[in-house]
Amino acid sequence: MTWVRRIIKLAPIKSIAVERVKFDMQKLENPEIEGIEYQQGTLQGYTLREALLEHWGRKCAYCDAVNVPLEIEHIRPKSKGGSDRFNNLTLSCHQCNQTKNNQSIEEFLKHDSVRLENIRKHQKKSLRNAAAVNSTRNKLFESLTRFDIPVYSGSGAQTKMMRFKSNLPKAHFIDAGCVNALQKVTLKTLQPLRVKCSGHGNRQFVTTDKHGFPRKGYAPKHVRKDWKAGDIIKVQRKDGSFVLGRVKKAAKALAFITFGGKETSFSPKNTKPIHRSDGYRYSFTTIDPVNVNVN
Ligand SMILES: [Zn+2]
Repeated sequence: MTWVRRIIKLAPIKSIAVERVKFDMQKLENPEIEGIEYQQGTLQGYTLREALLEHWGRKCAYCDAVNVPLEIEHIRPKSKGGSDRFNNLTLSCHQCNQTKNNQSIEEFLKHDSVRLENIRKHQKKSLRNAAAVNSTRNKLFESLTRFDIPVYSGSGAQTKMMRFKSNLPKAHFIDAGCVNALQKVTLKTLQPLRVKCSGHGNRQFVTTDKHGFPRKGYAPKHVRKDWKAGDIIKVQRKDGSFVLGRVKKAAKALAFITFGGKETSFSPKNTKPIHRSDGYRYSFTTIDPVNVNVN
C-alpha cells in the first residue's frame, strides 16, 4: 500500500493490476498426479506445478539442472508406499528421474549426504508460502480498491500464459508486468530497481538494566549529526570527483559504503544528501535471463 501511494504521486497511474493466486490446498495435498503429469503445460496442471517450481527453485532437485523440462518426482517412490501429497513431491530432470527409478532417496543419494539433508529440510517447509498467499490475497485486493483507480485482478495462470506468449523468462518483476496484460509484453530492462524493506532501526530511547531502571541517557547509535544510517549521499573527493554511497551505521567516525562496496569515511562539508533513509533499501540488480530465479 505504501508503494502504490508513492507511485501514484509520481506517475499518472490509470489502473492497478494485481495477481490473485489461489492455491487450492486441498488439491495440493491430494493431487491426482497421473492426470497432472499428462497435462503438463496446460492450465489444469498449472497450480501444482507452479507451486512445486516455486518451492523447489525451478531446478532439478538432484543435479540442479535448470532450463530443462522438469518432471514431477516422488521423493519416496510410489512402489515403496510414497504418497501423492505435496510434501512427497519434487521436480527432477528426465535423466535423474530415470536413474533414480524406484530407489529410495537414501539409496539414490547415498554418496551425497549434504543434498539428502537439504531435500529433507526443504520437504518440511511444505506449504507455508502458499498458505500465506491464500490468507492475504483478498485483503490486498480490497485495500487497493480504496485508491479510486480501477483495480483488475488476474490469475497466476493468465500471467504465465501472457509471459509465454511474450516469450519472456521467469522472474517476479517480469511476471508483475504480465499480470492482466492485454497484449504481448516487451521487456525494456533486465535491471529492475529492487526495493527491500529494511526498517527504521531501533527507536528505543533508553535501554534498561535487568531491574528495569534506565541505563544512561538517550544515545542513538544510528544517528550522528544530520546523518542517519541508510541515507544515500554524494561525496566530493579531494580530486573533485563524486562518489555515491550509503551512510553506514555510525560508530565513532562518519563512514559510508560506496555502491562499489568500499567503506570510506566522509566529512559533512563535502557531502550532499541524495535520498534520506526511509526504511527501504534500493539497488539495481542485473538479472541473468537464462537462469532467472528471483525471490
Ligand atoms: Zn537432474
